[in-house]
Amino acid sequence: MVLDTATLRIAFGLMALVLVVLFYFAAYRLTRSPYSAWWCGALLFFLSGAGCYLLDGTAHQVWANPVGNALLVHGGVAVWAGARSLRTVRPPKWAFTGVPLVTLVASLLDHPATNTWSGGPVFLAAMSLTIGLASRELWRLEPGYSRVRIPLAMAAGGLSVFYFFRWLAFLAEGPEGRIFVTIFGSAVTTLLTMVLLVVVSFSMAALSTEQQTRALRVVASRDDLTGLLNRKAFLDLAGEQLADRSITGGSGALILADLDHFKTVNDTYGHAAGDLALQAFADACAATVRSTDLTGRYGGEEFVILVPGASAERAETIAGEISRRMAGAVAPAGMEMPTASYGISTYDGGTSDVEELIAAADAALYRAKSLGRNRAARSDGVH
Ligand code: GH3
Ligand code: MG
Ligand code: MG
Repeated sequence: MVLDTATLRIAFGLMALVLVVLFYFAAYRLTRSPYSAWWCGALLFFLSGAGCYLLDGTAHQVWANPVGNALLVHGGVAVWAGARSLRTVRPPKWAFTGVPLVTLVASLLDHPATNTWSGGPVFLAAMSLTIGLASRELWRLEPGYSRVRIPLAMAAGGLSVFYFFRWLAFLAEGPEGRIFVTIFGSAVTTLLTMVLLVVVSFSMAALSTEQQTRALRVVASRDDLTGLLNRKAFLDLAGEQLADRSITGGSGALILADLDHFKTVNDTYGHAAGDLALQAFADACAATVRSTDLTGRYGGEEFVILVPGASAERAETIAGEISRRMAGAVAPAGMEMPTASYGISTYDGGTSDVEELIAAADAALYRAKSLGRNRAARSDGVH
């Protein structure tokens, strides 16, 4: 079987070009999903990198070959970034700068004027690494994510393993070696990359739409000003937590917090300063609780926290810690941060009603206010 690399590259280039246009107009313009944006970027890197290789054999090879390597590796990083964007995290900075830069330097030091495989080992290892990380990312997505990610994870995993063996073959016998040329040559690589692109296009619409839907769901569950859960989202999630007894053995505490004399803060320093105080308090809450605790803005200057597994003492400690952080927050010149009062209710096996817990905490909060504010009070218990 003779695969003509030049013809394959032209076919690949054409296919990638059509896909960039399709991904841009059919996925990105429609959903604005970071996933589709990263794939448009990845394809542009692949195209421009492959374009640089066309200059091999000319006087430009000395720079074009290393730059081509770096661009292709950058494409690999973009593929990884796209996979990571599905769970809204970015790859670390070193991936964007470090990996392509190391590839570039390794190629420049490896006689790029005469060597069309300059920096080959670094380039092959970087491709295997970035595409492998993308595959791992897709596997690790929560099971709720669309299943079209699975063939994609497999295709990326396969390409990564292929690059890995390519790298081994290159290390063993160099670019002229028989195995490297026949099994791991450019023609086979181009074909496998095409397969990956076909799978990507198959899953593009589904994953982009799903990413957009999830982003909207997050927006709909957050309070604009503080970024905490809004009232409805808190009630929904807390209801789920309380129903799922397995999480903490079924006991815990709820804290309702209300800023003291907040109306005076607004009246004295203005509404904008009041907003800053609300944000500072939200930050103090978020910095104090664990990521598994639920924190919400219950109303204007009222906040609510569900702490599964906590006793009333523990909840008091948390309240004290939040107040301490709030007092230490940076306030606009001349303004003093308001204090807060807390009402604490606890639950065990018997209760599973959030509204009931909140009502009990509210009664305790009322007592904390009447006892002079800037303190926490416990409810008599919910049963
Ligand atoms: P207390 O110590 O008894 O809680 O007194 P208070 O003044 O905090 O209580 P009150 O409920 O009378 O006032 C709450 C104030 O919170 C009134 C309202 O204007 C203000 N508020 C509610 N939402 C916001 C908001 O989003 N931003 C700002 N700046 N103020 C808000
Ligand atoms: Mg209030
Ligand atoms: Mg208040």
